[in-house]
Amino acid sequence: MKGICILGATGSIGVSTLDVVSRHSEQYKVIALTANTNINALYEQCIVHKPEYAVVVNEDKAELFKDKIKDSEIAGMNVMSGSKALEFVSTLDNVDSVMAAIVGAAGLLPSLAAAKAGKDVLLANKEALVMSGDIFMQAVRDAGAKLLPIDSEHNAIFQCMPAAYTAGDEAKQVRRILLTASGGPFRETPIEQLHNVTVEQAVAHPKWDMGRKISVDSATMMNKGLELIEACLLFNMLPDDIQVVIHKQSIIHSMVDYVDGSVLAQMGNPDMRIPIAHAMAWPERFDSGVEPLNIFDVRQMDFEQPSLERFPCLRLAYEAIKAGGIMPTVLNAANEIAVDEFLNERVKFTDIPVIIENSMAKFSADKADTLEVILQVDQQAREQAYKIIKDMSH
Ligand code: NAD
Ligand code: MG
Repeated sequence: MKGICILGATGSIGVSTLDVVSRHSEQYKVIALTANTNINALYEQCIVHKPEYAVVVNEDKAELFKDKIKDSEIAGMNVMSGSKALEFVSTLDNVDSVMAAIVGAAGLLPSLAAAKAGKDVLLANKEALVMSGDIFMQAVRDAGAKLLPIDSEHNAIFQCMPAAYTAGDEAKQVRRILLTASGGPFRETPIEQLHNVTVEQAVAHPKWDMGRKISVDSATMMNKGLELIEACLLFNMLPDDIQVVIHKQSIIHSMVDYVDGSVLAQMGNPDMRIPIAHAMAWPERFDSGVEPLNIFDVRQMDFEQPSLERFPCLRLAYEAIKAGGIMPTVLNAANEIAVDEFLNERVKFTDIPVIIENSMAKFSADKADTLEVILQVDQQAREQAYKIIKDMSH
């Protein structure tokens, strides 16, 4: 029996994780669930899964949550609040696996704490890895933790890697990674119309049902940019050895090209329960609840090169990882602010790459050798992005 802590339980990945957990209650016991503000969803989850701990990061919501459970069957559950509580629950002794499914930089400290405590880290929260880079990978190595990718592409690549491959190792027989992308909702929209894109259009992804931030990232293809950086770190590859491929059917989730010319692909229906179940059962396998792939329904698979003119965010991600040092931290922080402002209808869709590029121009690619430096740069880049947005509106 393994104990699991789900950081970001109320989000899209959190909900899919609990669906898989409920299919394997003989193997997994939920120890802790966390949410930022959504106490109604968290309450329902706690009633079903009876965790020992629930964390509601927002203090006011945590008080409301305590009130809500007072006279219920989960009255005895430990309820904590504040962001430090996330680190507490992700390092509990009876937690074996931590699903890192908080969105954005807010997930860094608890994910890193789980790695340092030697837990199995099931990493969906790509921003945490992108912003902290080698520091995260080193923490995993030092503690002998297992890092299992949940992002569908990275999970696919991991599955296509040589047997006994460990995240972060150099895979000498691998020539290239082919990182697939759906291309998002604006793959074919005339470029000159992109400035009119609404929030509703941007979050309506053609193939995947996801949280709002990652949906916008998919529309700008910054999601693929973050994934490019994520792949460089997880698989110890150079950015030039990773080819982004637009594959609109989202059936192949990525490919690994070996020196002998063999190309291995992982396929499946686009449903995050597949990578989640893979990582939870690894190195075994178990049922994810996903329908078998009907290859006759797929019929055809298309592959095309992404245009960096249409998707400037992808170009910026290549530039950030090639510059190295703190630049991916800056890219990620500026993107989080730009996307948030877009979701709040304060900037246009096409302003997103402009805000990021102008923010990056204010920094030099200094070394990112300590966590303190990372957190400081993250903060400075957010302030810089806000300043740029303010100047744009004049
Ligand atoms: P979501 O918006 O649906 O859920 C986010 C979760 O994080 C919620 O539980 C929320 O309560 C919590 N959260 C938000 N802000 C927080 C804060 N400041 N402090 C603590 N908790 C906070 O997002 P999602 O789509 O589930 O994505 C989660 C992560 O997984 C992201 O990093 C995303 O890039 C990655 N991911 C998601 C998918 C997908 O299909 N949804 C696929 C691949 C990777
Ligand atoms: Mg992905």
